[in-house]
Amino acid sequence: MNETGLTEEEVLVLLNNAKDKDLKYDRVLSSMCTYPHKIAAKAHMQFMESNMGDFGLFQGTYSMEQEIIRSLGNILHCSSINGYLTTGGTESNIQAIRSMRNSHRIKVPNIVVPESAHFSFDKIADVLNIEVRKANLDEELKVSMESLESLIDQNTVGLVAIAGSTEFGQVDPIAEISKLAVEKNLFLHVDAAFGGFVLPFLPENNEFDFSLPGVTSIAIDPHKMGLSTIPSGVLLFRNVEDLTHLKAETPYLTIDTQYTLTGTRSGAAVAATYAVMQHLGREGYRQVVSRCMELTDHLVKSVKEIGIDPVIDPVMNVVALDVPHPAQLRSKLAKEYKWQVSITQKPAALRLVIMPHMDFETIDMFVADLQKAVLELQ
Ligand code: PLP
Repeated sequence: MNETGLTEEEVLVLLNNAKDKDLKYDRVLSSMCTYPHKIAAKAHMQFMESNMGDFGLFQGTYSMEQEIIRSLGNILHCSSINGYLTTGGTESNIQAIRSMRNSHRIKVPNIVVPESAHFSFDKIADVLNIEVRKANLDEELKVSMESLESLIDQNTVGLVAIAGSTEFGQVDPIAEISKLAVEKNLFLHVDAAFGGFVLPFLPENNEFDFSLPGVTSIAIDPHKMGLSTIPSGVLLFRNVEDLTHLKAETPYLTIDTQYTLTGTRSGAAVAATYAVMQHLGREGYRQVVSRCMELTDHLVKSVKEIGIDPVIDPVMNVVALDVPHPAQLRSKLAKEYKWQVSITQKPAALRLVIMPHMDFETIDMFVADLQKAVLELQ
């Protein structure tokens, strides 16, 4: 920092220089984030100073947060819903597992997650000092029930299922996992950070939410397919007691307890999420999801025409392509063709996320470049 400040114009030049170095989403096929909806961006700006860590001062913002929780409870079939806005899937997952752990008095607790679980569960193992056991996947890249069940023992405090895996967009057999959770009296957290704003708006009925009696908590991210601003995640609990396992006293605030992981919390993200959910409604989200799925189907059809198959038939707008040398292809596409794509681990494949910033023309340009890049690597 300089001794004397710069003028507003000088600062804006610095900001624009930095912005020019950021990639635009237009050629990004690797991210689960996208441009927020216009109304979310407007609402975010309007509530920038609002701190949900001390929501007694911001009752208006707090009422919007409560409305978001109620609405998501409705969409995800739970009338007794409780929860709050987190910074995203990682925080929601940490807090869900923390609640499971705190509700048991087990010295060396463990949880069982699918091998496809997001890397936030590796952070959880470290932060919460809990063993995270990883169950194998079946040939469709869903968790194997046999493997999941075999890893449960007397120290298991809960199970995790994924509704929209990060790498493949696959949905675990959550109805079966829910049955197992009820049978074994275990918590079941569903990580729907990505799929939560997709699955309810697809024509097919993918069972994943609180309509299944064993599901105790859900993570769902408005800053991914919900078209809200970053940072907006939501953690939802069916039972209020599970939220109370996260209680901390807050002596000098307008409120005397918090259940959140962070202290200061973005009211801007609350306003943005509330605004875009009010504006789009279920019908609007159905249209967003339907367009992403049309683009996904178009992509799959086009790559099949050039001899490339998806690893699994896409369940949502995430596609993994079975290509030779995925890692080399990824860097070639980035360096020579300016496309951002990513790769999956097991099996190794080229991973594409078809977010709302995509369009048919861009997909066609990408497929043409993909075909050239594959040929050049042969
Ligand atoms: N869970 C799933 C299934 C995800 O796909 C992601 C991110 O892509 C996360 C959790 C973590 O979310 P965040 O990056 O918002 O913390």
